[in-house]
Amino acid sequence: FQDITHPDDLESDLAHIGVLLAGKIDSYRMKKRYFRKDGNAVWVMLSVSLVRDVDGRPKHFVSQIEDISAMVEAQRSLELASRSLEQTQHLLEASQYAAQVGGWEWDIGLNTLFWTNETYRIHDLSPGEFSPSVDSAIEFYTPESVQVLTAALQLAQSEGTPYDLELEIVSARGRHVWVRTTGSVTQVHGRVIKIGGAIQDITERKHAEQWQLHYSHVLALISNETALKDVLVALALFVEQWAVTAKCCILLMAPDDAHLVLGASPSLPGYFAESVDNIEIGQNGGACGMAALNRAPVMVEDIETCEGMLPKWRELANKAGLRAVWSVPVFSSERRVVGTFAVYHVEPWAPNHTDEDLLARSAALAALAIERARHQEAQRLARTVFEANVEGVMVTSPDDRILTVNRAFENLTGYRVDEAIGNTSAKLLDSGHHGEAFWSQINEQLVQGGRWEGEVWSRRKNGEVYPIQMSIADVRDDAGIMTQRISIMSDISMQKVQAARIEQLAFYDSLTGLPNRALFLDRLENTLAAAERRGDRGAILFMDLDRFKEINDSKGHAIGDLALAETARRFLTVTRKEETLARLGGDEFVLIAEGADQRSAALIAARLLATLSEPLVLMGVAHTIGTSIGIAFYPDDGKTSEELIKHTDIAMYRAKAGGGGYRFYQAEMSTELEKHLGIAHRLGPAMEANQLQLYYQPKISLTTKKLVGAEALLRWHDPELGWISPAVFVPVAEQRGMMGPLGDWVLRESCRQLKEWQTLGFKLPGRLSINVSVQQIEDPEILGRMLEIVHAAGGVPQWLELELTESSMMSNPEHAVEIMTFLAAAGFGLSIDDFGTGYSSLSYLKRFSADEIKIDISFVRNMLSNKNDYAIVNAIIAMAQSLGMSTTAEGVELEGQAEALRGMGCQIAQGFLYSRPVAANEFAEKWLQPPIP
Ligand code: C2E
Ligand code: CA
Ligand code: CA
Repeated sequence: FQDITHPDDLESDLAHIGVLLAGKIDSYRMKKRYFRKDGNAVWVMLSVSLVRDVDGRPKHFVSQIEDISAMVEAQRSLELASRSLEQTQHLLEASQYAAQVGGWEWDIGLNTLFWTNETYRIHDLSPGEFSPSVDSAIEFYTPESVQVLTAALQLAQSEGTPYDLELEIVSARGRHVWVRTTGSVTQVHGRVIKIGGAIQDITERKHAEQWQLHYSHVLALISNETALKDVLVALALFVEQWAVTAKCCILLMAPDDAHLVLGASPSLPGYFAESVDNIEIGQNGGACGMAALNRAPVMVEDIETCEGMLPKWRELANKAGLRAVWSVPVFSSERRVVGTFAVYHVEPWAPNHTDEDLLARSAALAALAIERARHQEAQRLARTVFEANVEGVMVTSPDDRILTVNRAFENLTGYRVDEAIGNTSAKLLDSGHHGEAFWSQINEQLVQGGRWEGEVWSRRKNGEVYPIQMSIADVRDDAGIMTQRISIMSDISMQKVQAARIEQLAFYDSLTGLPNRALFLDRLENTLAAAERRGDRGAILFMDLDRFKEINDSKGHAIGDLALAETARRFLTVTRKEETLARLGGDEFVLIAEGADQRSAALIAARLLATLSEPLVLMGVAHTIGTSIGIAFYPDDGKTSEELIKHTDIAMYRAKAGGGGYRFYQAEMSTELEKHLGIAHRLGPAMEANQLQLYYQPKISLTTKKLVGAEALLRWHDPELGWISPAVFVPVAEQRGMMGPLGDWVLRESCRQLKEWQTLGFKLPGRLSINVSVQQIEDPEILGRMLEIVHAAGGVPQWLELELTESSMMSNPEHAVEIMTFLAAAGFGLSIDDFGTGYSSLSYLKRFSADEIKIDISFVRNMLSNKNDYAIVNAIIAMAQSLGMSTTAEGVELEGQAEALRGMGCQIAQGFLYSRPVAANEFAEKWLQPPIP
């Protein structure tokens, strides 16, 4: 700029810049001369402001240059005129007109005010239309301006001081006009007799100046990372202040690219803002919706008479008292519509050139702010994703130098960021456990596909070798050259710890603190194995409480829980160290007494019974409770845990039937009980007599709340016994080896039903789950049989999901792995039912080809009241996620459970909250899409 600045003005300009940079002022204005390209000097008004970054460092100058040569010329001619009386009025007028500068003179003695023609025009008057006096002329000024002007006139009058002011007037037509007005004084013998001066319309310059200030202010806001909303509000307010009746509304493009959401509308009423938030792009979205659609400004000069305007928008405008709207699209630098900028007016209105210019510029600033905000958001997100990632992230260069790592990497490897950066990852992390071939194979895959994933042994800073799951991806440039390699690492030894924790949690009953069923079974197995080796004997005592159900039902679960806890405590007082007392579930307890014979078993039973002779006092109320005890001995009454438990159960049943106390198991009891129930005999005919049915229970997505499948559950209605629960007859059928044909029936019936729904036009989303018993999977022919049944019914395996209980699979896990692999390959979905009650090891879980884990109902039931159960549910979900399986929670009865499960990341729920299992017709009616008529 030095080359084009007049040498006389250079020094002063540089001095100003120095002061500006030193931070003493924010902006400056000066008159100076520039050289034009043609070599002529031109007088300009220069305004410069400095934009600084967040840290206060100067970033750039914003300068505005205005040509004021006309003004300078006019002033000179005015001076000449007042000096030479011969100067004709005509010449003066002509030059004033050309310069758009008016003149005036106040004769103080006569108290007359003279205006030149141009002065009239500035006031939107025609010459002579108005006879000015000082008092009436001052009326044109705004209140603030009046104060300044009267003070200046007084000073001029009393002290002969000239003035040069920039003031605002309201013209005769109500236009806001900025004027520059000067006053100089004529004195005779030291007395002021006249004050005269020039007046110039500087509205345009003033606007430009205000714009410039605004512009640098907004730029500063943007570069200081001010919230987008605040920047938009500043933009809107500026436009509103410029045009007095204007109200602005800035909308932003929603992420779906099909809607506009509210950005800022500081002066419009709340209901207005609400109505324009999330409007559709297109005609439904009114002027803004159309502007965004057409990518062009939309102008409605009078909303009341505009034909294309939808009634709802007209009503809204009416309510808010708005008559005109003008909306322009806001474009990003890639010319994508990122929003709209609209101005409303309370009167019918059309923009002039200046208004258009203002709005275009405001929209451009809005675009800048929006893009900047989006960019920042994306960056912030990327940063958080990177930093907050629980997995270690490492970015390396093509020559394996570490470029950056996140915090999780530090925790994982023990190396700090600064230690890691610059080193090669091989040097830092290689455990030495893998050979050359391993790495070159990974490299090959990366070169070919750009990705690799697998397990790797790595080494921590402290030397510890540990397993990690590693995903590697190459970043390539446009030419396909690898520029960076991103490795994501997670510690899978943690998964093992977590699995151990699940096991720990899953081994103890949360209510009583006693070993649970799983741990009991484990101990019993060990005991039996050891007993067999050593030829030991012993007793199993099975306790089922009497009258517990009444307490639980009448007093509620809380009291029921107290009763169980107190009973457990009392039982423990008579339990010896070498005996194992466990809670099997519900009100059932069991005790292993190694080495006990009939006599000592009877003694133990008597002691246990005695602990309940005193009533339980629960919350100040006494409750009498008893227990019935069944006793069986190993190895005489059974060699396997199942057999033994079943037999203690039968003996307990007899004790209960006899009014409590204890009973030893006797062989004839078994058949007696079964006869009593008659189940086994009735089941076969029942199948033939069509007494069996399938009921269907919906599976609901916790995220979408929509139906995503169903479970088929067996129902048996016996003409004499009434409804018999599958929980009762399925185990009997299993013992009797009847589960094969029953299972076939279930599969056949399921397919038939699905086919029927299909023909009727109903569609079940997802798969139908059916329960498969352990006996079915023990059958070596199972796969062929199932496929045959499915195909015969005109179905495909993809229709079905097979639920296998965790414990049934764990009875012979190697076999289960094999069968499940076959079933999955054939297209069946697989699910692990009642998860948490068996105790599968993680290594098997990974190998079972299951898609889904069903969290057992017993954990879900108490998850809100019991911390342990809550933790187990949480851990199961986390573990399933880490193994890539989805989770279904069964037995969801409360909204609170659903909510908590969803929060933990569980995908699907099933339970009475949504529906009980219902017959096929009812299910179709309630849950399936009706057929199109
Ligand atoms: P399951 O597979 O764990 O089935 C879930 C059981 O929980 C069903 O009992 C169901 O009615 C019940 N249930 C569902 N939602 C809720 C709830 O919100 N609250 C409560 N308290 N209970 C709920 P159901 O129908 O009595 O079946 C019992 C068991 O019988 C089943 O347990 C399954 O192991 C077995 N079973 C049923 N049908 C078949 C079958 O076709 N084949 C085989 N092998 N076993 C079956
Ligand atoms: Ca099931
Ligand atoms: Ca279950």
